[in-house]
Amino acid sequence: MDRFAPPDEPAVVAECAYCRREIYAGDEVKRIDDAGGYVHANYGMDCAIKYAEERVFDAMGTINIRGEID
Ligand SMILES: [Zn+2]
Repeated sequence: MDRFAPPDEPAVVAECAYCRREIYAGDEVKRIDDAGGYVHANYGMDCAIKYAEERVFDAMGTINIRGEID
């Protein structure tokens, strides 16, 4: 078994902070401001949007008369 990547395989340059899969040279990414990592910005599923939503929001629903989410 060849343990080396074939020469035409794109280089892994980072790990996605959301899905934890490899980020290859040439991938579309977004950089995280404070943490300094990267997330996929175009990988079928949009890791950048999901990562941002998890960090910014802690609840979702309909707001009630008291200004709270039911
Ligand atoms: Zn990802």
